[in-house]
Amino acid sequence: MRVHELARELGLNSKEVMDRLQELGFTAKNHMTALNQDAVTKTREFFRKDLPVEAAAQPETAATVVTPPTAAEPSVPESVSVSSKVITLKGPIVVRELATILGVRPNQLIAELMRLNVLASINEQIEIKDAARVAEKHGYNVEREKKHEPPPKPQPKPLEPKGDEPKTPKDALLPRPPVVTVLGHVDHGKTSLLDRIRNTSVAKGEAGGITQHIGASTVTVGQNRITFLDTPGHEAFTAMRARGATMTDIAIIVVDAQDGIMPQTQEAIKHAQAAKVPIIVAINKIDLPSANPDKVKQQLASIGLTTEDWGGQTICKPVSALTGAGIPELLEMILLQAEIMELKASPGLPAAGFVIEAQLESGKGPTANLLITNGTLRVGDVILCGQYWGRVRALLDDRGAKLKEAGPSTPVKCLGLPGVPEAGAAFEVCANDKVARAAADERQAQNKLEQLTTPKRASLTNLFDQLKENEKAELKVVLKADVQGSLEAIEHALRQIKSEKVSLNILMTGVGSVTSNDVLLASASNAVVIGFHVSVEDGAMRLAKKEGVEISIHSIIYELTDRIRESMTGLLTPILKEKVVGRAEVKQVFSITKGGIIAGCLMVSGHVTPRVKVRVKRQGNVMYEGAIHSLRRFQNDAAEVRESQECGIRLDNFSAFSEGDVLEFFEVERLAQTL
Ligand code: GDP
Repeated sequence: MRVHELARELGLNSKEVMDRLQELGFTAKNHMTALNQDAVTKTREFFRKDLPVEAAAQPETAATVVTPPTAAEPSVPESVSVSSKVITLKGPIVVRELATILGVRPNQLIAELMRLNVLASINEQIEIKDAARVAEKHGYNVEREKKHEPPPKPQPKPLEPKGDEPKTPKDALLPRPPVVTVLGHVDHGKTSLLDRIRNTSVAKGEAGGITQHIGASTVTVGQNRITFLDTPGHEAFTAMRARGATMTDIAIIVVDAQDGIMPQTQEAIKHAQAAKVPIIVAINKIDLPSANPDKVKQQLASIGLTTEDWGGQTICKPVSALTGAGIPELLEMILLQAEIMELKASPGLPAAGFVIEAQLESGKGPTANLLITNGTLRVGDVILCGQYWGRVRALLDDRGAKLKEAGPSTPVKCLGLPGVPEAGAAFEVCANDKVARAAADERQAQNKLEQLTTPKRASLTNLFDQLKENEKAELKVVLKADVQGSLEAIEHALRQIKSEKVSLNILMTGVGSVTSNDVLLASASNAVVIGFHVSVEDGAMRLAKKEGVEISIHSIIYELTDRIRESMTGLLTPILKEKVVGRAEVKQVFSITKGGIIAGCLMVSGHVTPRVKVRVKRQGNVMYEGAIHSLRRFQNDAAEVRESQECGIRLDNFSAFSEGDVLEFFEVERLAQTL
């Protein structure tokens, strides 16, 4: 008997059963794990014994299920405790502390708060509700610490409504439908499978439902819903991810029961694995007489995806998109997987999510097909989408029906934007027009900047720049070689490079030239592409330039491994060393007509260039540390100002100069550590 079967028998979800099994000393890796008789009997006994007690204690069921939050981390204030992705607060929290907990720069957090119409400086406190809204964007839930009662059960069973019961908080987390992407080799039946799933559900669903193309659709299975994205293969899946749009919860890998695993199937699997998305395999076309599901299972086992009926963990269902055989079981497997993942969102919050695709439609104007990942989107909401903002004029579902509102995991077509945003762009609902306009301006400026500069991604020489202090470094690699033999030799040689501080993660290996797809995967995963005796396709080279992905091609194995070894040395968190290059004294403070304060300075020693960092000191105290906004001499921008020359200096984010302040200019050198 499998975990999910026992769970169903006991009227529980698989997660609850797995937790109990663990307490009883049994291991169950997932809901598909087969249990021995002893485990089944003991679990049954446990729950049957437990049942009346739980039932008696119904109104306050919470205590038994929830583990209290773990102890506070050292860097986090005492009034805060962080347990995995839950932050428990006693009261308002200072912006800086919240930024530390979320692992983001305080400035970024301040900007995000502004978008939510909350103005707070780094040392100011913000309310719990505002902390919750902003923390949620980073995947954290914020809870108010309960004084005496234990925290609420994570997934409360609906209780009988009582008259004076307090209202559910807006950020309350509720289960949401899974979002599924179908991937696989061309012609293995991705489109047919999606069509079959949709049509089955349409036939059972509301009348008159003609599927509209909105890039995704939601199907109803019993009491549950599943959203399927229509991504045409893993290229689009990874392209979205490269833009930061993470929408998929579960990947279905479709494999033709006759053809078996093909290179693109393997690629799709690697892409799903790189995105850390759980995989369910659908062996399709089992209606064909030549279908050989066992061969597919054998092939799956050979690439580390042994199916559960062969003693492994991979969930696998034989199906036929043509006849519909196995489809209900496949849908059930998706729901079971979703149950284990405990997917949740807060429908009470303003909506946020991503653009699946957008277009200009005659009669409708710009339309954006959106996937709501959190909150509820309503007609009339002010929405910021990519670099555009507007008021939601209408919402249409995947059957073309008009909606007043749509909740988490729902795909909708949204009308009312003034332009066509890019696929993969993020959207969010703003408090009002003013906030949306300001945020849109900021995004437009950011876009311009991005067009001028190449995004900074992992590189064999600079990966360590992106690491935070004391972090363990990981070098991710997409490896391409001319033949299978060299691929294996190189992989083996690379795995010999041992370091306690740096780990090597080979995301994908493949035979053949470097393609755009390889570059996309590297871009989405912050990896570098290493090639051995291979060429780089034209498109791939252009894309790599645009995306800032490093491609390193070699023709001698030891040269390649040396390069990686060197890089893994560079990967170590560097020792930072500061070097003072000059000092100036503020002689006069001016304000200029365009706004901004300029410090009129005399260089006392050394020199200054616009690139160096600066520290403002007043009577020995550091007032500010940051970057130079502009360096001028006689109204002109200056590339360098030397000792005893005068200059005008404006700083980023600091204007409170006082005559007599000392500006200390310095550079930061990075010294690479050795392995
Ligand atoms: P995609 O490229 O992966 O989207 O594959 P399609 O859905 O376009 O299917 C490719 C071909 O396989 C089409 O001719 C389909 O009719 C056929 N096909 C898809 N599913 C099945 C199936 O379950 N059984 C059979 N016999 N043919 C199928």
